[in-house]
Amino acid sequence: MNRIPRIVILGAGYGGVVTAIRLQKQLNYNEADVTLVNKHDYHYITTHLHMPAAGTDKPENARVDILRLIDEFKVDFVKSTVVQIKPHDRKVILEDSTLSYDYLVIGLGGEPETFGIPGLKDNALSIRSINSVRHIREHIEYQFAKFKQEPHRKDYLTFVVGGAGFTGIEFVGELADRMPKLCKEFDVDPSIVQIINVEAAPTALPGFDSELVEYAVNVLKEKGVTFKIATAIKECRQDSVLLATGEEIKTGTIVWTGGIRGNRLLEEAGFETSRGRVIVDEYLRTKEYDNVYVLGDCSIVLNEEGKPYPPTAQISIQQAETCSHNLVATIRNTPLKSFKFHNKGVVASLGRGEAIGVVGKYKIKGFTAAKMKRLVDIRYLFIIGGIPLVLRKGRL
Ligand code: FAD
Ligand code: NAD
Repeated sequence: MNRIPRIVILGAGYGGVVTAIRLQKQLNYNEADVTLVNKHDYHYITTHLHMPAAGTDKPENARVDILRLIDEFKVDFVKSTVVQIKPHDRKVILEDSTLSYDYLVIGLGGEPETFGIPGLKDNALSIRSINSVRHIREHIEYQFAKFKQEPHRKDYLTFVVGGAGFTGIEFVGELADRMPKLCKEFDVDPSIVQIINVEAAPTALPGFDSELVEYAVNVLKEKGVTFKIATAIKECRQDSVLLATGEEIKTGTIVWTGGIRGNRLLEEAGFETSRGRVIVDEYLRTKEYDNVYVLGDCSIVLNEEGKPYPPTAQISIQQAETCSHNLVATIRNTPLKSFKFHNKGVVASLGRGEAIGVVGKYKIKGFTAAKMKRLVDIRYLFIIGGIPLVLRKGRL
């Protein structure tokens, strides 16, 4: 290849944006043309989205303009939506143009997994993007306004959250914190409000440390959350949720946090996928094309036991570091690096001043864990934007 190789990165989430930032640091002038494509001109900090969804923080605090993160002399940014990936032709079709590439990085994230539950797609909301959380926040306020018009409709103030994984737990924590303010604003008796978290597995946060799960559930119950554990959602109707037990909960709000799958564009492109996610090789490439890397929620990396690591921001960032190394190594004809996940721990918020976590061999909870969560958030801001971004967004 005598001309300058073209690298196209799809998606400016954790995987995509960190790859672009690393490449702009590592590549020399004229070593490669790098293009980053994203639907919006901002990167959103998904790990923060449960807050604006509940209305305990502003959506602006969960987004950063992409042009503040990349150096336009080194990386071209294209604001557009990817509609098709054609790996055989080395082309990507955007809504308004076509891009050719020599190397492709796919970091298009995930989509809510609905498991074919009837009515879920049409009747439930999900925490996925700035636009989706704006919708949830406005919807919640609207339920209060509607209740004031029809005070016999207590179902307007029943909020059902499907799934008590980390997203569900973090969201109900914020929602419970928001309720006293909304009740005051709309002159509503707080005892009318119900927040119900429904979980199919025998415990909330399945697979997580049982002592911390118990702590989390108690903190959230104390804040007013009701749990229905070992109870699957079977159907979502316009004004109710049907549970596997046969119970029907009348509600005006269903927020689905029951899991994610990979972006559909990957299976449509012909890659072999499992729930929309591509099992990548040790260098993070697809098995069909060694010039296509897949990162983050649309990839699967298997652990030593052959099980997929959970899709997290943490693994996406680490994949981006390996991916950028391997792209530079390929261009320079030097050895590639195998990806190895280093689990730095998990910390989950339970609302204001409360969290749980496992960091190394330590279990943490309460205020200490909440402080740790802030540190994790600040570290990420530092990785993508250095001290200026920490000072602007980190509220130090
Ligand atoms: P994403 O961050 O989802 O980014 C995908 C990007 O692709 C987006 O910018 C999107 O706009 C863009 N895009 C999508 N489709 C198109 C298209 N067709 N054309 C153009 N652009 C497109 N993980 C942790 O490790 N720690 C946490 O504390 C944590 N907290 C979380 C809290 C919440 C509420 C949620 C929902 C998730 C949380 N996660 C956490 C998981 C983590 O956010 C995801 O694993 C991570 O965002 C995945 O990164 P990604 O780069 O794969 O995709
Ligand atoms: P998840 O898949 O981890 O959890 C979904 C939950 O929904 C599961 O507990 C599942 O049993 C339940 N569920 C599925 N079908 C159901 C049904 N029909 N009825 C009721 N419950 C049902 O999804 P998530 O919580 O969105 O998390 C996605 C990824 O993001 C995970 O890897 C998670 O670790 C990560 N994440 C991390 C954090 C953090 O570290 N603080 C926060 C949020 C998300």
